[in-house]
Amino acid sequence: MSYDPDNIFAQILDGRLPSAPIDQDDHTISFADINPQAPQHHLVIPRGAYKDLTDFADQASDAELANWVRALARVAKKTGIASDGYRVIVNTGKNGGQEVPHLHGHVLGGAPLGAMLSRKT
Ligand code: AMP
Repeated sequence: MSYDPDNIFAQILDGRLPSAPIDQDDHTISFADINPQAPQHHLVIPRGAYKDLTDFADQASDAELANWVRALARVAKKTGIASDGYRVIVNTGKNGGQEVPHLHGHVLGGAPLGAMLSRKT
């Protein structure tokens, strides 16, 4: 499946949809999740058109890769959740439960987050 240039995050990146960035650099932009699953829930996306983590790992430059990883940790620090700990989630593809087909890292914290997964049999 190729990259969908009309996905929600593509529209945020090119200004078709509004956003309130909490952090940005040459290669990333970060903003609050619209439907938070924790007291603090933020999304860190690359500016480049990458549909998921596999695509990003295969295609992105070293600078893009490094900036995205650094932005995940920087957002945790900026939002005050780094000191008590936080969780980064990257849902990928159908089985990973990815809804928006533009790579995004969820940064969650602000309270104990419980078990990593609830087991489904
Ligand atoms: P995922 O299931 O990993 O693809 O996560 C997509 C996330 O994007 C969900 O947590 C949504 O709440 C979030 N989301 C969808 N639209 C927006 C938006 N316009 N601004 C911020 N977050 C959004």
